[in-house]
Amino acid sequence: MPGGFETPIQYLKGVGPRRAELYHKLGIETVRQLLWHFPRSYVNFGENTEIASVESDQICSVRAMVMSKSGEQRIRKGLSIFKVTAADDTAEITLVFYNTKYAVEALSIGQEYFFYGRIGGSGFRREMHTPQVFTLADAERGMLSPVYPLTAGLTSRIVSANMAQALELTAGERADFLPTEPRLKYQLCELEFALCQIHRPKDTASAEIAKKRLIFDEFLILALAMSSIRGKRSVETGYQMKEESFTPFYGSLPFRPTGAQEKAVAQSCRDMCREVPMNRLVQGDVGSGKTLVAAACCWFAWKNGFQSAMMAPTEILAMQHLETLRKFLEPFGMRVEALTASMPAGVKRNVKKHLADGEIDLLVGTHAILSDGVDFLNLALVVTDEQHRFGVAQRVSLAQKGNHPHVLVMSATPIPRTLALMVYGDLDLSVIDELPPGRQPILTYRIGSDKRERAYSFIRKHLDMGLQAYMVCPLIEQGEVDIGLKPAAQYAKELADGPFSGYRVGLLHGKMKQADKDSVMEEFKNGSLQLLVSTTVIEVGVDVPNAVIMAIENAERFGLSQLHQLRGRVGRGSQQSYCILLSDAKNAESRQRLGMMCKTNNGFEIAEFDLKLRGPGDFLGFRQHGLPQLAIADMAKDVGLLENAQQAAKDILQVDPDLSQHPKLKEQVQRIVKNVGEQIN
Ligand code: ADP
Ligand code: MG
Repeated sequence: MPGGFETPIQYLKGVGPRRAELYHKLGIETVRQLLWHFPRSYVNFGENTEIASVESDQICSVRAMVMSKSGEQRIRKGLSIFKVTAADDTAEITLVFYNTKYAVEALSIGQEYFFYGRIGGSGFRREMHTPQVFTLADAERGMLSPVYPLTAGLTSRIVSANMAQALELTAGERADFLPTEPRLKYQLCELEFALCQIHRPKDTASAEIAKKRLIFDEFLILALAMSSIRGKRSVETGYQMKEESFTPFYGSLPFRPTGAQEKAVAQSCRDMCREVPMNRLVQGDVGSGKTLVAAACCWFAWKNGFQSAMMAPTEILAMQHLETLRKFLEPFGMRVEALTASMPAGVKRNVKKHLADGEIDLLVGTHAILSDGVDFLNLALVVTDEQHRFGVAQRVSLAQKGNHPHVLVMSATPIPRTLALMVYGDLDLSVIDELPPGRQPILTYRIGSDKRERAYSFIRKHLDMGLQAYMVCPLIEQGEVDIGLKPAAQYAKELADGPFSGYRVGLLHGKMKQADKDSVMEEFKNGSLQLLVSTTVIEVGVDVPNAVIMAIENAERFGLSQLHQLRGRVGRGSQQSYCILLSDAKNAESRQRLGMMCKTNNGFEIAEFDLKLRGPGDFLGFRQHGLPQLAIADMAKDVGLLENAQQAAKDILQVDPDLSQHPKLKEQVQRIVKNVGEQIN
C-alpha cells in the first residue's frame, strides 16, 4: 500500500468504495487530497442560546438535556420522523429528526448535549429541525465544528470523522515543505499545526493561525508554479534595442497622446532596451487608446531595424487594427500587412514571402499568425491585444518562439491588481489610467420593457441627427435560442420592419461568414448602416466614434465585465453617449449589478464589485488553463498574504531556481505545473 498521504481514499478506515465515490465527486482521490479539503467555515456550538430566547428562523446552538423521545412516526414511505424533547433552565424545545434513527438512538435521556440548527415552529412551540448533535466530550476537544464543502450523501460530521482518521494515518509524515526562513519572516505556523488545527481547531484563534499558513501555501505554490510555467526570465533577447526620440512619431499624430499613453510607451521602450525580453502588460480601460501605444512600440522596433507582429482575438479586430496601424505607420514608410485565415492562398503566400525577406515591417492577424509556416526575418516584438482571450497556454508558446522576442500584452479586462499579480507574477504592468481629453462619461440607464417604445424613439432621434447606434441581442452563439430568446436574425428583422423601418439596419453575428462580417462592419463604419444589431461579437475593440448609443437586451444575462466591454463601444467620440440596459429582472442581485453599471464608468470599480459579489470563482479562467481552483485563499481578501507569498517565491527562486534544494516544495509545485502542461500540449 502506498505511503500515508497517497493512500487511495477508499482504504481509509470508515470510507470504503461507496463513500469513496462521493469523495471522487469532490475531486478527492487520496488521503492527501482529503487533508487539503478545508472547511468553508465553522459552527461554534459553544456559543449557545437560552431556549427561552430562540427566535423563529434563527440558526443557533442550544445546550439542553434530553427529556423524552418519541417512537418512530412514519409520514409516508421512505420518510419517518423522530421527535425528541429537550430542555435547559429556561424552556423546552422539540428536536425533529428525519430518517435518522441511529442519531436518535444514540441520545440518552437525562444527558446534556449541544444541538445546532435552524429554529422552526412558532410562538411557544419551539422546534429545531435536523439538528447537529455534539456531546460534552466533543466540546472538550473544541467548540468549533468544521463545515466542509460537500456533495449529497456526505455530511460535515462524516467528513470530520474521516479527517480524524486521515490525520492519524499520516501522523509523523507531515514534515514541513516550507523553508524555515519565510515561515519565520511571515510569522506562519508549522504545517503540522496548520493541518491539525484547520480540521479540529482548539479555538478560533488557532483556526485563524492555521488558515493564514494554508492560504500562504496556496499562493506560494501557485506563484512558484506560474513562474516555472512562464520559464526563466533570465534568457537574453536577440533584439536588444536602442533609445530613439519619439518626437517625429508623436508629431505625426492628429492628436496629442495622453500622459498615460506616453508613460506606457516609455516604460515599454525602456524594457526593449534591456538584455532580457520585455514581458509587459498594458492595462487600460476601454477607449483609453491602447492601440496607439502598440503602434508607438512597433514604430520603435522598426526604427531599430526589427519586425513586429500584432495579434487580435478576432479577424474583425485584426482588420480594424490593420487600418488604424497603417494610418499611424505608413507615413513613415513602414509596410503593414495582415494575414488571416480567410485570405486567398495566393495573397497569403505573398505575405509570407515578404515576412521572410523582411519587406513587411508589421504583421497583423489573429494568433494563427504565430503558427508554423510563418517565418519572420527578425521578429522582435509581439503585441497581443485583449489578452484574456489568449490565456496562459498561448503566452507560453509565444515566449518560446524565435529568439526571445519582446512581448507586450494589452488588456482592457480590468483585472484588479492583486489578480494580475497572481496570474502574471513578475509581468510588468503599465496602467493607462487616463482617457483622451474631451470624452464625456457615458450615461447609463436601466429600463424595463414598459419603456421600450421610449428607448426606440430616443435611438431614432439620434439616428436622425446622423449618429449611429448598436443594439445587442441575446446570444445566439451560445444556444440560448431554445429558451425563448429570439434569434438575432429574426430580432433584427422585427426592428427593421417595426420601430426602425425606414432606417438602415444591419446585422452582425458570430455564425456569419468572415467576409460578410467584414462587409457589415465596413458599412457601419462608413455610415451606410445606421443601426447595427449584433450579438456580443462586437464586444471587444470595435471602434466607431460616430456610434453613440449602446442598447443591450436582457442585460441581466451578461456578466458585468462583459457589459462594460460592450458599453465601451460608445463614448469614443466627442458626442454625449448612452448605454441603455433593457431588463425586466426583479431579483435583488440583478438590480444591484445593473445599478452598478449606471453608477460608474470605471472598469476597475466594476470588476472589483463583481469580484465581491460573485467571488473570484473562475474569474480568470483558471480551470480553462488547468490551474487549480483556490481551496482556501480568497484573492480579493487576502491581498497582504498574496504579496508576501509572491515575495517569498522570488526569494526562494533567487537562491534555488529549480527548487532542487526544496524537494518537498518542488513536489507540490510540480503537481500544478504538470496539470497546466497537459492543457498546453
Ligand atoms: P482601446 O483599444 O484602449 O479601447 P483605442 O485604441 O481603440 O482604445 O482608442 C479609442 C479611440 O480614442 C480611437 O478612436 C483613438 O483614435 C482615440 N484616441 C487614442 N488616443 C487618443 C488621444 N491621445 N487623444 C485623442 N483621441 C485618442
Ligand atoms: Mg482596443
